[in-house]
Amino acid sequence: MDAAPPIPDAAGATPAMAQWFAAKAAHPDALVFFRMGDFFEMFFADATAAGEVLGLAVSHRGEHGGRPVPMAGVPVHAMEAYLARLIRRGFRVAICEQMETPEAAKARKAPAVRRAVVRIVTPATVTEESLLEGSRPSWLLALAPDGGERVGAAWLDVSTGHVCTESLPVAELGALLARLDPTEVVAPESLAAGDALTPLGGVVREALVPRDGARIAAGAWGVASLAAFGSFTEGEAAALAMALDYVRDASGGTLPRLAPPECRGGEGTLRMDAATRRSLEILRAERGGKDCLLGAVDRTLTAAGARELAARLAAPLAEAAPIAARHDAVAFLLAASATRAALRTELKGAPDMARALGRLSVERFFPRDLAALRDGLLRAEAMRAALAAAAGVPPVPPLLAAASAALLPPDSPRAELARALAAELPARLEEGGVVGPGYDGELDALRRLRDDARGAILALQMDLAQAWGIASLKIRHHQQLGFLAEVPAAAGEGLLRQKPAPGPMAPVHRQSMANAHRFTCTALTDLDRRLSQARDEAARREAAVVRHLRKLCLDAAPGIAAAARAAAEIDVQAASAELAAGGAWCRPDMPDRPDFCVAQGRHPVVEAALRRNRGPAFVPNDADLSPGRRLCLLTGPNMAGKSTYLRQNALMVVLAQAGLYVPAESARIGLVDRLFSRVGTADDIAGGRSTFMVEMTETAAVLNAAGPRSFVVLDEVGRGTATWDGLAIAWAVLEALHDRLRARTLFATHFHELTALAGKLPELTPAAMRVREHRGQVVFQHLVGPGASERSWGLHVARLAGVPREVVGRAEAVLAALEERARGLDPLSGELPLFAAARPAPAAPAAQPPEEPDALRIALAGLDPDAMAPREALEALYRLKSLLSPHGTAVAPQRDLLSSDG
Ligand code: ADP
Ligand code: MG
Repeated sequence: MDAAPPIPDAAGATPAMAQWFAAKAAHPDALVFFRMGDFFEMFFADATAAGEVLGLAVSHRGEHGGRPVPMAGVPVHAMEAYLARLIRRGFRVAICEQMETPEAAKARKAPAVRRAVVRIVTPATVTEESLLEGSRPSWLLALAPDGGERVGAAWLDVSTGHVCTESLPVAELGALLARLDPTEVVAPESLAAGDALTPLGGVVREALVPRDGARIAAGAWGVASLAAFGSFTEGEAAALAMALDYVRDASGGTLPRLAPPECRGGEGTLRMDAATRRSLEILRAERGGKDCLLGAVDRTLTAAGARELAARLAAPLAEAAPIAARHDAVAFLLAASATRAALRTELKGAPDMARALGRLSVERFFPRDLAALRDGLLRAEAMRAALAAAAGVPPVPPLLAAASAALLPPDSPRAELARALAAELPARLEEGGVVGPGYDGELDALRRLRDDARGAILALQMDLAQAWGIASLKIRHHQQLGFLAEVPAAAGEGLLRQKPAPGPMAPVHRQSMANAHRFTCTALTDLDRRLSQARDEAARREAAVVRHLRKLCLDAAPGIAAAARAAAEIDVQAASAELAAGGAWCRPDMPDRPDFCVAQGRHPVVEAALRRNRGPAFVPNDADLSPGRRLCLLTGPNMAGKSTYLRQNALMVVLAQAGLYVPAESARIGLVDRLFSRVGTADDIAGGRSTFMVEMTETAAVLNAAGPRSFVVLDEVGRGTATWDGLAIAWAVLEALHDRLRARTLFATHFHELTALAGKLPELTPAAMRVREHRGQVVFQHLVGPGASERSWGLHVARLAGVPREVVGRAEAVLAALEERARGLDPLSGELPLFAAARPAPAAPAAQPPEEPDALRIALAGLDPDAMAPREALEALYRLKSLLSPHGTAVAPQRDLLSSDG
């Protein structure tokens, strides 16, 4: 929600409504949840907005300024579910609580119960399990200018206490956003209005940049200077302070436990921009697809492991040593299958310790959070034992050894929690029974007293039954009235008529109902008081014990957080080994030079989809971009598997540098510094907007940033414009990549004409998707072979698609004629001869198609592709096609007769 609707004037409001106006004025961009008894009510525009999102009936309550006040409410006990839906839609909710009981307000003669905003619920500051996505980090990202063209970034996950910073060029902001996919962003107006943030819309909050960010941030961690944690730029420190302030404001002034900030810098990670991530579908599918890389390779068993794997795929490494360390760990666990199985047994169903700790630190926790630490630490100890048992030859690799050491925190509260917590835990602390018997003597004594009192009630019930002569007398507890003796109506009438002898058991009438009467007596009220005292004292004592347990956990928090991280690390490594064990995956050889050679590589997502749909087996393919053949130009008709091949090789780089094995028989992948993937867009003419501009902007980014260590995948670039423009662009881009940028490149194209470059660019090797014809049918073999594709497949595809036979026949004739003409021109003459081919050539070639229908030729000659907008080009194509048809009627449009692409 960005534009806050105007708040009505508060003048003339009732005392309670005046409180609402104050809360709304303090939090104009949040919905105000206004506590009224058992409901949180919303008023005015809040009520209508939330009513719509939550499907609530909007009623009216009283009047304000002569108009009825719209109101909608949600029951307090069901509030989490409603909050979940609101924050998922980008709303922020200010929780305005009652700070005293109505009785207390009455006692101090106040006109209304005191209320205050205790918390702002925002998407990135929640810790509740139901409001978080288990397998995704929930980043709050803050941004601040960092001098010149740079921006300081700080991001933190309140639910796990993880904090990072980075200083980066403004131009790379889009890539950072794509990598983190933040839940909420805090930025000054200058940045919030920028190109990168505008598309995020509702999740961006504007904030001022503090001048003393470093001091604020240092204060939050209780250190004299941030330098204690590394060297942070001014922008990073300011961004940190902004993030901290935002969290503090949201949680009513307190901060959750946060680990020391890590300054990461983008150094050491594989650079990928937003377009690359989109096209590779790393963490999520695009354009309606449902499969992504993460989904296809994720074998983790815990939410924390899934989060860690997602983080690794989102930010693969770019340095040899840490990548090798991860591969060593996978190799070890792949070989040590018994150890892996033992670890995975412990991981399966292991609780999310990091998030439980987060909830404990903000005091919004549940008994199960304490149990999560107890159980999580127990499992961590078991994992440690499993790794200890595996020590020997080969030795446990350093990454796993370090994780193993961290699994047992120095001051683990595990044993204490195990002794303290009851076997069966209540859902909420207030229900009592969190602490089991035998842990705290005082609590046990108070509980005994309480339970004795219960026994005393039963004894008194028998005594009263006898004294009053009513065998069916029952002592029952009532919410408002406390304990009362209930007797049937007839017996009650009798008791009422009696004049009781004074004494502790003398009945005092309290209530008459249709079929029963309720009485009390001094003995009963005394007992009631003793019982509730015992109950209150036991509850108070239990709360104190729980506070003690919470403190134990928080004192050990750094160690517990480290154990949680270690468990996630082990989960990721064991999962990667599990994945590798399940099929032909290999450890990539990763030399520190621009090399790339994959044998029998596969696309993990397409392979999984084919398998799931019981489709044909995936056809593995080799790739070789080793020095001397850095560019591969791939041609082939539509649906032959070009895009799949390109992406599978780019994904190899992502997987390898994230520290996973790769889906191939063998792979040599020289370290990549930047990875680019681009898909040409067909012009969205029907929608009336040019995506060609987008395509060219993205291509420009590649040409401006790729270098000899980069890996570039370009899929049908130039497709988004008229044929000759596109061809020219593709041609020039290829030349630049070959001569100037010298990046390892896979280039797929339907511009068959580009294969003419093969002879001109020594490091370019042509490859083609193999296609076979079988009984008039095109059969895609999904096999990449050497050389260029034949160009006639477009017409085969047309035939296959049901284009009338005479039309296809005619097209063949025209194609033959056009090919003949093109042959007359030398494609290697230096410039781009293909433009000439498009123009009406003054010297017409000798070969003429039979029975020249010159309407077509004339129409063709009249076109000037260079001067045409994409829409005009398409319309011209339709016109030409209609000339082809014997009756002059339009036939189904086909994209491009001249290319091999169907
Ligand atoms: P193109 O880019 O050439 O049009 P795609 O890469 O989009 O072709 O592939 C089209 C379809 O062919 C894919 O959706 C997939 O089902 C199938 N396919 C592609 N490559 C392979 C392969 N190597 N083995 C099996 N099926 C494949
Ligand atoms: Mg394709």
